[in-house]
Amino acid sequence: MTSFRWGGASDTGRVREGNEDYVLVSDGLFAVADGMGGHRGGEIASHLAIDTLQARFDAPAAAHTTDALVAAVEDANRALVSRSGGDPQLEGMGTTLCALALVRTDEGDMLGVVNVGDSRMYLLKEGVLQQVTEDHSLVATLERQGKLTAAEAAVHPQRNILTRALGIEARVMVDSWEIRPRVGDRYVLCSDGLFNEVDDARIAATLRKLADPAEAAHELVRLANESGGRDNISAVVVDVVEGSTAGLPPAGPSGAAAGASGLAGAGPSDLVSDRVRAADRPSAEGGHRGRRRRRAEGGGTASRSSRRRWFTWRVALFVVIFLAIVGVAIGGIYYSATNTYYVGFRDDAVVLYQGRPGGLLWVQPTVEETTGLQRRELSASAVIDIERHKEFGSLDAARGYVANLRDQVTATTTTTTTSTVPLPPPPTSPTGPTVPADGLTPTPTPGAPGAP
Ligand code: MN
Repeated sequence: MTSFRWGGASDTGRVREGNEDYVLVSDGLFAVADGMGGHRGGEIASHLAIDTLQARFDAPAAAHTTDALVAAVEDANRALVSRSGGDPQLEGMGTTLCALALVRTDEGDMLGVVNVGDSRMYLLKEGVLQQVTEDHSLVATLERQGKLTAAEAAVHPQRNILTRALGIEARVMVDSWEIRPRVGDRYVLCSDGLFNEVDDARIAATLRKLADPAEAAHELVRLANESGGRDNISAVVVDVVEGSTAGLPPAGPSGAAAGASGLAGAGPSDLVSDRVRAADRPSAEGGHRGRRRRRAEGGGTASRSSRRRWFTWRVALFVVIFLAIVGVAIGGIYYSATNTYYVGFRDDAVVLYQGRPGGLLWVQPTVEETTGLQRRELSASAVIDIERHKEFGSLDAARGYVANLRDQVTATTTTTTTSTVPLPPPPTSPTGPTVPADGLTPTPTPGAPGAP
C-alpha cells in the first residue's frame, strides 16, 4: 500500500504583480505549472493545463498508468493550443507542467512522473537531493552539451528561455519516468521561482530539517522570497509514508492554503484540498527506477512570458543595431583611411599613395602610382612638402600636384640648359604654311612668321 503525506505553497513573490504559477495537490496527483503570456495568458495557461490534466487523469474510467498521465498532458497541450488559437489576446500563452501521480503497473504501485518545461521534480533520498526531471531550457541544453557549467547556467541571463512548453505547438514531447515508491522518500515539485532563488544545498537542508511536508513547502517559499522573490514561487512536498498512516489526516490541508495566502498577502489559495490516496496493493521492493520515455515528436521554442519573449526580441534587435553601428564605424574608418591621397618619398622616388600617412588603425596606405620623379630633381620647397606628406582629397588633385611637379622639373631642366647652352636664334623662316585669319589663301610672309 502506497500512501503519501504532502503540503504545498504557491506565492506571487515580491516583484510580479500576479501569480501565474498554479499547483495541484489532490488524490495522488501532484502538479506544478508555471504559465507564460501577456494579458492574464500565463495564469489562464497554468490553470487550464492543470485542470485538464486532473480531469483526464482522474476521469471515472481513466486508467491510472504512466501512459494515461502522458496522454493527459498531451490533452492539456491541445486544450491550450485551441484556447489560445481562438483568442488573439491569449496568443503565445503557454505553461510548464511537472506532475507526479500514483500509477498502477504489473509490478505494483509506481510513481509516474511527467515533465514539460523547466519546472522541476527533486527526490530527497536518505538525505541526498537529486533532480529527477530534466529542464527544457536553453541553458540546460547548453549545459548538457558541455557549453555551460551548472554554476554558469544557474545565473545565466537567458536561463528563462524554454525549449519546450505546453500550448506552443500542436504536438508536444513529454518526458516521463516511473519510479518505485519507497517509504521515507520525499519528492519536491517546484517552479523556477524556487530554485533560481534558493540553491540545491539550501533546499536539501530545509527538506532534511522540517519533517512536516506543508511546513517544508512554506519554508522553501519563504526562503525564495527572502532571497528576492523575483518570480512566482511554488513548491509541493510529497512524502512516501507507511501505509498504516494512510488513515491519518495529511499534513496541513488547510494550513498549506492559509500559508500560501498569508505569504502572497492576497487572493485565494491556489491549493485544492488534500486527500490521501489509499492504494490497494502492497508496494513491491525495489529502488528508484528511472525508466524514461519520450513521447511524440516535435517540440519548439517558447520563452517564459511575453515580457521575456519581448526581452529576447530586444536582445536580437540590440545585436542587429550593434552590428549595424560597428559596420558603419568600420566603413567610416575604412572610407576615411582610403579616400585620401598623398605624395611621399619611397626611398628617393616620388610616389603617390592612397591612404593616410602612417596608416589609420589597421588600414595601411598603398602605392597608387609611381611618378618617375626623383628627390634630387625637385626644388627644396617641393622636397619639404613631400617629406611632410602632401595630402589631397582626391586622386585627381594628387595627380594635378604631381603634374605640376613634373612641369617644374622640366622648367628647371630647361632653365639649366638655357644657362649653359644658348638657345638657338628665333626661326626666321617659315616652318610651314601659315593659315591667315580668313583661312582661305596661304600667304607666306618672310621675316614675320605667323603675322597676317
Ligand atoms: Mn517562473
